[in-house]
Amino acid sequence: MDHRKIIHIDMDAFFASVEQRDSPKLKGKPVAVGGGHERGVVCAASYEARKYGVRSAMSGKKAKELCPDLIFVPPRFDAYKEASQIIREIFHDYTNLVEPLSLDEAYLDVTNNHYNIPYATQVAKDIRSKIYERTELTASAMDERVALDPTDFGGKPEEKELVTRLHQTKEGIPKNGIIIDATAPLEHVVGKILKKCN
Ligand SMILES: [Mg+2]
Repeated sequence: MDHRKIIHIDMDAFFASVEQRDSPKLKGKPVAVGGGHERGVVCAASYEARKYGVRSAMSGKKAKELCPDLIFVPPRFDAYKEASQIIREIFHDYTNLVEPLSLDEAYLDVTNNHYNIPYATQVAKDIRSKIYERTELTASAMDERVALDPTDFGGKPEEKELVTRLHQTKEGIPKNGIIIDATAPLEHVVGKILKKCN
């Protein structure tokens, strides 16, 4: 059985945190990115806004009802992409096996990381502090143990199916790691893995 050390890194309230970082008047305030115009939709909410129940994908109208002091700011994707680029550079500094899920989230296989750090939790801690040093933004990290054994997945049937299918094509599995993205639709994940195997 092949156990890999996988960490999942996710920036905290990413778009809203970038806005609060770049605009001091927004610090500590309930902020919604997007949603400010008629029929607009919130695409990110600061923690202060989340306390009122404001969530992404909610209409701006509903958000304003929940939090009358909510400050709407238009999205600045260039700024988010710039931060995202820096974060990815940091990830790649540690490992070549990076599976980005979005601008602010990725799985990293740190089994054989470039610094030979034996513990995944230590790698996660290092990465979080580097992210903060270079972007003034905070990230959360989680360790995930990925086992290439179907019996190890007690949870979702689609995960079991995925792992079973991986076993059926075992000769195609690269020894140096497969990253399973448990949040993406199965076909998508399998497609990605097969691409890696080719
Ligand atoms: Mg996030």
